[in-house]
Amino acid sequence: MQDLARVYVLYTGGTIGMGPETDDPNSPLVPKPLKEFVRLLPHKSPKQVTASKISDRNLRQGSIGGDTYRLELDGGNAIELRFESFEIPVDSSDISPKDWREMALKISTVYDEYDGFVILHGTDTMAFTASGLSFMLENLGKPVVLTGSQLPMAEIRTDAVLNFINAVYIAGYKATDLPLIPEVIIVFADKIIRGCRATKASSTDWAGFVSPNFPLLGRIGEHIKVNTKFLLPKPPESRRFFVNMDLDENVFSINIFPGFKKEQYEKIFLDENVKGILLSTYGAGNVPQDEDFLNAIETAVKSGKVVVNLSQCQVGSVEMGLYEASNFLLERGVLSGLDMTLEAALAKLMWILATQYDSGKYIQMQISQRGEQTEDLFDLRFGQVPHDKPISRHTVSVTPDGRLDRDRISRVVLRFSGLKVHNSKDDLVALKVFMNMPSANRDTNENERRCLGLITFRDDGSLRTRIKNVTTISNDVIGKGDVILTIVTDQEDRKVSFDGLFLTIYVES
Ligand code: ASP
Repeated sequence: MQDLARVYVLYTGGTIGMGPETDDPNSPLVPKPLKEFVRLLPHKSPKQVTASKISDRNLRQGSIGGDTYRLELDGGNAIELRFESFEIPVDSSDISPKDWREMALKISTVYDEYDGFVILHGTDTMAFTASGLSFMLENLGKPVVLTGSQLPMAEIRTDAVLNFINAVYIAGYKATDLPLIPEVIIVFADKIIRGCRATKASSTDWAGFVSPNFPLLGRIGEHIKVNTKFLLPKPPESRRFFVNMDLDENVFSINIFPGFKKEQYEKIFLDENVKGILLSTYGAGNVPQDEDFLNAIETAVKSGKVVVNLSQCQVGSVEMGLYEASNFLLERGVLSGLDMTLEAALAKLMWILATQYDSGKYIQMQISQRGEQTEDLFDLRFGQVPHDKPISRHTVSVTPDGRLDRDRISRVVLRFSGLKVHNSKDDLVALKVFMNMPSANRDTNENERRCLGLITFRDDGSLRTRIKNVTTISNDVIGKGDVILTIVTDQEDRKVSFDGLFLTIYVES
């Protein structure tokens, strides 16, 4: 029996469907109506590929009534394409979350009728749209493929035909015998990329997109090869597909640079209409240690804004607390964007702000929702011991969020901030820290399995930050319930106080 796949194609504009504005071939490129694109699709022979009855009116008005384009494949299988267009196709620099909603709505209207979906889109903001749709489409069980091109379809050297046909092959997997990819993806040149991992890296190379922090979902050459082990699982039938249209667009993105001015950033941090801020910082998440700047961030966080630290480096992850220059951000309640792209972080922030409440916003922002980050981060905060009430023994506990999967913990980092010793008389001071052993005391041996180790330092009266990787021990000790930390000083009369005690747990997502 021959297989027929049904694919819905939504044309939004972009270079793929552009042509010169006027008869002068040197006039600027503008998006042309969908019928121009369809007219240029390959017709090997009238039998193999037939563009039937695609009328001007239907295409312009985006009718999904009765006209189809049939792609006959070798071996008798076929893909039936239904085209629809944005009423006014646009250069993707004009795309906004309003258009993401329109795309999501159009897909949801015909979701049950088609096996896969292709969105023709300009390359400039394709990664933003792919990220936005990744979060908006809940329980997605079918491929949603975004593609475009570097040269318009009408150009003789165009990459549009191959990109389009490859996208259709992947969306029409039922007829092409490719694996189902139940995700929002970008198919471009030789790559299949998870949508919320993609970023535009070249405005001229055929391979315009990269996936800097996650393996490719597939490679396209003579054959199309899908890396099935990296795909998100298809949701069970019991979880119905739906679209979440709620996005809070009151977000802002700040890219710090040497010499940036207080007057510039204060406006954003103090603006009460801004609910979320992406802070693109240096390296592993570092910022200048400028008191005014840090205070502005602190005020923003205290006023309820969600501030997320992202790295300006394309490759790698934010690791706050690694350097003193990022420790301040962590202490002021800034969240880690880990290895998310700016595009994914922006869309996720809009989605989180609109769909989560209270502490849920902070917890969910650091957990992978659609495979947009490599690790989940659980930030356990154990509070402070005031400097005027130092202690020599202290036990405190935190209930981690229920999603913390203890079998997939990859790293655990213990951190004291603003740590101060009292009565040390210049000696070397040692603090013993125990996990899940509230009975521990000064005499409990540090070789005890539940001892996270010794924190040693010489007191010079200043406030210290101490960071210790405690992964191996924690992995053995962390149980299903609360995480309890017990801190003991090495001598009865030696006391400590601190501004914050934190356990950062990274889990493979
Ligand atoms: N400016 C175009 C767009 O994003 C660029 C492209 O499609 O490649 O619509």
